[in-house]
Amino acid sequence: MTAHTVQVVDSLSLLALKVASNVFDLSSGLHHVSIRDQIVRAQLAVRDLKKGDPSLQSLLIVGAGAAGIAAALEAVDQDIAQVVVVEAGDEPFGLFKGVSKRYVGPYMYEWPGSFSRNQSYPEHAASPWAGRSKSPLEWKALQPIPADRLAAQLEQHLKDRLQEIKKSGKTPPAICVQVNKRTIQKFVKAFARRESARAISRLQGHTPATPLEFGYWHDLVWPELEPAKAVCTPQYVLLAAGMGAETVKLVKEDMSGVPYKDTNFWGARFWSDDTLMDAGTENLQLSIFGGGDGALQDVLRALTRRNHPLELMTFLERDPATKAALLRISPSLLDAERQSRQFGTWTLKNGEYATIDTVCRQLARTLAQQPRVARRVSRCIAFGSGKVSLFVLGKYFDKAYLLNRFLVHLIRACKQEHPAMWEGRMNFEVHFEQSAVAYELTESKQHVVSIKRWDAKPAVCYPHTCHMIAVRYGITPGTVPGAQMIQVSNKQSRQRTTLARVELPFVVERI
Ligand SMILES: Cc1cc2nc3c(=O)[nH]c(=O)nc-3n(C[C@H](O)[C@H](O)[C@H](O)COP(=O)(O)OP(=O)(O)OC[C@H]3O[C@@H](n4cnc5c(N)ncnc54)[C@H](O)[C@@H]3O)c2cc1C
Repeated sequence: MTAHTVQVVDSLSLLALKVASNVFDLSSGLHHVSIRDQIVRAQLAVRDLKKGDPSLQSLLIVGAGAAGIAAALEAVDQDIAQVVVVEAGDEPFGLFKGVSKRYVGPYMYEWPGSFSRNQSYPEHAASPWAGRSKSPLEWKALQPIPADRLAAQLEQHLKDRLQEIKKSGKTPPAICVQVNKRTIQKFVKAFARRESARAISRLQGHTPATPLEFGYWHDLVWPELEPAKAVCTPQYVLLAAGMGAETVKLVKEDMSGVPYKDTNFWGARFWSDDTLMDAGTENLQLSIFGGGDGALQDVLRALTRRNHPLELMTFLERDPATKAALLRISPSLLDAERQSRQFGTWTLKNGEYATIDTVCRQLARTLAQQPRVARRVSRCIAFGSGKVSLFVLGKYFDKAYLLNRFLVHLIRACKQEHPAMWEGRMNFEVHFEQSAVAYELTESKQHVVSIKRWDAKPAVCYPHTCHMIAVRYGITPGTVPGAQMIQVSNKQSRQRTTLARVELPFVVERI
């Protein structure tokens, strides 16, 4: 950065995101990465870069997801003249395209917060920031919407913005698609090396080498898909290439802890349309592996046939007694959630999940003891002879939003407390401290999974048979694109400081 006065408070986001000389990574090793977080993160990074270095006129952004596009549009707003986005896929927001069974909303997981009910971004009539918030990406939705519909809204918004920018006489960002990943990776590495050498030269009072050029002559510029024929000399690179590949392989290690190499099962990715809620599956044995948001979301979808947890909550609240009971415990839930988020920010061991899980279990049990609430909860469960079995490696659910976590505990507690109310409805079991250690597909197309029970001493194994499997283990370590491009060392490391785990504001204020 050139020698301008940088206010400490303004550089916090940059400190957290810096991964090499003049390279900032919006995606890797971060703790809060919802769509909303990524938009805010991108806005803050670009705003602070421009504030810290007012000479900034050329920016290269890797990845055209919500973060990359938000960064590009913010950069134009900040009067950065040349903005180039390079995307390996065919189009912006590709992750969400064609996914109609995953519902998303920027505030859904703020439940029981009062503003969890409106899913338009960034505006929210019921909040103190109404009218004062600003976002490069906007959408309107009263309820959570399918990812595909969100992608369509974002795409339209982006096209409109590109037109507006052209009309205003500014240069719109060049969004290049189908760019070779290897070319990008090579450039980013070379850029970081060159910028580091240039910084050292400046410190030593020498004339720095010329900055590195990025030629994008043959790249296709979205949406017209015409070749670009241009060159840019970025002053900074923002990596916004996403979270990496999800682990959807069922068995990782065998009974003795050795990496499993036998016949295995690969599940559908989270951002894809699965068949868990298809007609007829209510009479099947459905098994879900994992203990975080993905797994809990799938449990709720499979058991209740509702698209998202807020829909389920709305159904519960239509009964005044259940609504009143939920309202009574809301302050305790909110307290526990706030504390858990704080612990999550300032510790690395994830011990906070034990506490939030214990609170949720206790409050769920309290509600389940009220027959009227239990009856209402039982009515959410689909009729059918099938069963949902959830296998969790640890003693508790791990990183999950309060809404998913509490609802799963509530359903479980109500079923335990009043089994008679469950008559004719899908069965549900949660197995903590258990994991898949072997897999086989029978001739009749049934899955047989060997399950290891860690709570038994010594650990024991038993066969579990089912018709469908969802694997929700989260991101595979070592596959995060940003970290693959820039890595201080090849050794496994924590990579990021606590700053990268600090919770972000919901929106950025219009100044
Ligand atoms: C399993 C899972 C579940 C999630 N559930 C939710 C949820 O319910 N709600 C929510 O708000 N968020 C959820 N998230 C987070 C959500 O995916 C992110 O908030 C959002 O997609 C992040 O946007 P992004 O732009 O950072 O990354 P992405 O949307 O992943 O975009 C990254 C872009 O970079 C491109 N790219 C990748 N590598 C390269 C490369 N080397 N060169 C060039 N381009 C590259 C990709 O093609 C992609 O277009 C979930 C994430 C995961 C993994």
